[in-house]
Amino acid sequence: MSLELDTRIPLFVIKESYAQDFGEIFWEEIPTDMSKRLRWWSKFFLLLLNFFWSIFPTAQAFSDIKKNEIIVMTAKEILDENFIPGTKEADLVIKALKLIPYLHYKSLENLKIKKYDKLEPRGKANSENLILNKKNMDNAEFLSVFLHEMGHVTDLGMLTPDKKNRKSKFYSVYQTDPSIEFYEIDWESVKKKKQTAKIWDFVSEYSRTDVFEDFAESYIFYILHGEQFRNLVRKYPEGLLKKYKFLKQNIFWGQEYDFSKNNFKYSENIFDITKIEYDLEKFLLACNEAEKHTQEDFVRRSRFLGRMKRKKNYNT
Ligand SMILES: [Zn+2]
Repeated sequence: MSLELDTRIPLFVIKESYAQDFGEIFWEEIPTDMSKRLRWWSKFFLLLLNFFWSIFPTAQAFSDIKKNEIIVMTAKEILDENFIPGTKEADLVIKALKLIPYLHYKSLENLKIKKYDKLEPRGKANSENLILNKKNMDNAEFLSVFLHEMGHVTDLGMLTPDKKNRKSKFYSVYQTDPSIEFYEIDWESVKKKKQTAKIWDFVSEYSRTDVFEDFAESYIFYILHGEQFRNLVRKYPEGLLKKYKFLKQNIFWGQEYDFSKNNFKYSENIFDITKIEYDLEKFLLACNEAEKHTQEDFVRRSRFLGRMKRKKNYNT
């Protein structure tokens, strides 16, 4: 068990990450049809703004540092049968991993759990890193956020392109990236939906943000609310059916799940799947069951055993 309290100067770390996120968000908002010179001036201005902005929150952040304990696990530890998690949060995460195919987290190099960080979202992930920020979440929500982030890790780390030649219309995603089959169901580009996309093609409001959130929200919905997903597919057999099929065939290799609460009434308008109640006890029982089986079957049946790609941008 490696319980690492961050020994670097935390003030600097927090400042740095905050400024970086702030810059990334705004940089993406600069319209691409601007002239090159204007884009560079905008970038310069944002960098300047970043610098000043980064100074302000530090005073407040300083008072939170003591609460901001950090647990870091490497993928090696996670996969080691003899690894003893030692904390409640790490234990939950490792349990949940037993239920999902090994290939989904094969690309993961670091899994970091922060117990409290005011400035960070509840979770964020790319192909190699997954960071959870426990804040005031209960166990059910904590695991939900973890599964949502696992959706990103799977999308970015497992569904990798054969050849890295030409970029697709989906930003940094290569043309041969298998995720594109999923994105193309409802999306024109990363943030622009097709005209034919229906409101009921999406599992939640948040999944309408961009292609990556669409994937991650559909992924967690597939695991935790499988029965409801199948109900909706029967009701709206268009985009949703394609998404369900893609997940079932390519991501979960035929395995279906359901951890919805008995007689739970789903609202017509779900904002965020991680906020929807599910049967945590049933979920943890299934995780314990899954421990008894090997995951070799999943690996054998995978059609995506290719190289792991590196998509660096974080999705939250
Ligand atoms: Zn996300």
